[in-house]
This record gives sequence, C-alpha cells and structure tokens, in this order.
Amino acid sequence: MEQFDVIIVGGGPAGLQCARELSKSSMHILLLEKQEGFGDKLCAGGLTTKAMEVLALPDHIIEQKILRTSIHSRRRDAGTVTSVPALFTVDRRVLGKYQRSLLEGTEVEVRTNSKVIEIRDNTVVLKDGESFGFKYLVGADGYSSIVRRHLGLKMKKKLIGFQYTIPVQVEYPALEIYMDARRFSVWYAWIFPHGDSIAVGCCCDPRRVDPQKIKSGFLDWLKDRKLDPGDARLESYPIAYDYRGVKFGNVFLVGEAAGLASGLTGEGIYQSLVSGQEVANMIIDPMHKAEKLDQVLKYNHILERVMAAFRWSGPLRGMLQEFLLILMNNEWLRKKINAQFASKS
Ligand SMILES: Cc1cc2nc3c(=O)[nH]c(=O)nc-3n(C[C@H](O)[C@H](O)[C@H](O)COP(=O)(O)OP(=O)(O)OC[C@H]3O[C@@H](n4cnc5c(N)ncnc54)[C@H](O)[C@@H]3O)c2cc1C
Repeated sequence: MEQFDVIIVGGGPAGLQCARELSKSSMHILLLEKQEGFGDKLCAGGLTTKAMEVLALPDHIIEQKILRTSIHSRRRDAGTVTSVPALFTVDRRVLGKYQRSLLEGTEVEVRTNSKVIEIRDNTVVLKDGESFGFKYLVGADGYSSIVRRHLGLKMKKKLIGFQYTIPVQVEYPALEIYMDARRFSVWYAWIFPHGDSIAVGCCCDPRRVDPQKIKSGFLDWLKDRKLDPGDARLESYPIAYDYRGVKFGNVFLVGEAAGLASGLTGEGIYQSLVSGQEVANMIIDPMHKAEKLDQVLKYNHILERVMAAFRWSGPLRGMLQEFLLILMNNEWLRKKINAQFASKS
C-alpha cells in the first residue's frame, strides 16, 4: 500500500488551496476527488474582496466585477455604486479548473473519480477497493464529509440553499439582495449576475423555519419580481456552519467539512480558502500561528451576532430591516461604504 505524508479528501476550494500551500513543502501529498472534474457544486459563485485577496484570480477567470448593488426591503430600495468592485462572480467549474491547474508541475498527486468510502488505522479506502496510508489526513470533503463522520462530529447547524440558474441574453447589471421577513425570515433572496446567466436563490436554517414555507415564499417572490425561471431547475443543497475546530490529532478539517460557512449569508468560499491554507501551514510547521483562521472565526462570529439580532427582534424584524434600508439611503454612510472599498483597491 502506498504511503503519503498528507492525504486530502475533496477537491473543492478548501482542498485545492490546501494542496497548493502544501506543494511548497517537500511532503508526499495525495488529493482525492470523487467527481470526474472540479467545481461541480451548487453555488452563487460570489467572491468578496477578502476571497479575491487569497485567490488573486486573473481577469479571465472572473465573470463579473460588481460595482452596483441594490438592496430591497418590503417598502424601500437602496443601492450603492462603488468605484471599485464590491463583489466578483465566477463559474465554479472554471474556478475549480483554475485551482487544479496551479498544482500542475508540483509533486502533488491528484486523483479524480476517487471516492473515499472508509477511513481506518491511518488508511483511506476508495470505492474501487484501493487503499492508501497517511501520516496526516485533511477532510476537505464539504457538507457530507466522511472525514468529519470518522471523527464522530455531527453537522447540526446548517442552512438549506435554494437556487435557480437562469440564462440571460444581456449581462445583468447589478447584484440584488431582497430582505423580506415574512418570506425569508432572517435570511434573504439574492440575484448574482454572471456572464450569461443569473444565480437566483435564498437560504434558511431548517432548525429555525420550515424550508418548504421559505421555498414557497421564494417562488411567490420570483413571480412578484417578474423573474421567469423558464426551463431552469430549482436546485437545493445544504451549507454547513457547525464549527468545532480544525485539528483533531493527525486529522484536520477545512472549509465546510469544518462547518466554516456563514449561517447568515451562506458565504463559504473565503472561509474554505483560508482554512485550507492555514491547515497546510499547521501541517508544515506545528508551531504555525493560524492568525488568518482566527480572523475568519471572528468574521463568522460577527455575522452570527447579526443573525442573532435579527432572530431576537422577532415580530420587529421587518422594522429592523426597514431601518437598515433607511441607513443605507443615508448619503454620508454611502460615501463611507464607497471609501471603504476604494481603500482596499
Ligand atoms: C445555493 C448556494 C449558494 C452559495 N453561494 C455562495 C457564494 O456566492 N459565495 C460563497 O462564498 N459561498 C457560497 N456558497 C457556499 C459554498 O458553495 C461552499 O461554502 C464552498 O463550496 C465550500 O467549499 P469546500 O471546498 O469546503 O467544499 P465543497 O466545495 O463542497 O467541495 C468538497 C469536495 O469534496 C468532494 N468529496 C466529497 N466527499 C468525498 C469523498 N468521500 N471522497 C472524495 N471526494 C469527496 C466533493 O466532490 C467536492 O468536490 C453557496 C452554497 C449554496 C448551497
């Protein structure tokens, strides 16, 4: 049986970023991906400036650089136009292919069509019966992580994301966010513009609200918004936000396998990239101080507190959302937001 220093299970943003960082060491590394390719994952493909700082994507990978954002509540509309992009959209398959390409010419061995079905005695076993030994194991295998299950950690906190990918003839101009407490509770519906399509979706926590109710609210909202999904299929997938740590002896969890997405926004790519990178550095140097991971945890904590404030506001939630929109329409605040993005460019 072949032995590796590190085996990474999963080739999403977290696993590929982890492999990229580990490739700088002299370790013998294997990345196992169950699918034939990379990036086939339900996602709105939105990247914040923070995620872009980690990825440093070349322009041809980016579908849209978003300068215009419009935010809506039941009664009000607000918008910002920033001088530098506030968000970027990518096609997840293109991103996956790009991240994979960065491993070419390195010593990292990458195997696709390689589903891990068992982990025992520092060994992973694939569906076809082949097995490999490891010194360190990294679970980068997303929401339904087999590595996390091997550690006996349940994934209790999750969102359910619903999304249509609707083709458009003309490039859609703005990112749109819709807050409507009656339909989406503390969460929101989104329209993320891509090159020749828009990702239209919403999410909710099934422990807090009935997902069927949110789904029917979402379908009603689509009609009000006069968006016809045509032949597009409504897809859904969980988003994990049940974080319990990244290091468990010689086994590590990164990205959504570690429950590192946001329970408010559903954002997870940035957290996956940073955790993948930080865990690689922890493996290379056990004394490594994972400061960027601490920042991610702080960022998620702030978003959780915003979510808690919305939750506790109960029937006043709608009023709170209206108040937010009033603030957003304040000229001074808008200038501040713009300056914030401009200073990052
Ligand atoms: C509707 C929706 C919209 C979203 N929109 C955004 C957004 O706009 N921006 C954002 O930042 N985040 C978004 N997210 C969240 C984002 O998609 C995830 O947080 C992100 O993909 C997590 O990356 P990851 O690498 O941890 O896991 P994943 O991307 O899930 O990758 C895991 C990989 O592991 C592989 N794998 C799984 N099990 C095995 C196994 N047993 N053996 C081998 N391989 C295995 C899978 O095939 C997959 O390639 C959205 C999620 C949803 C559901």
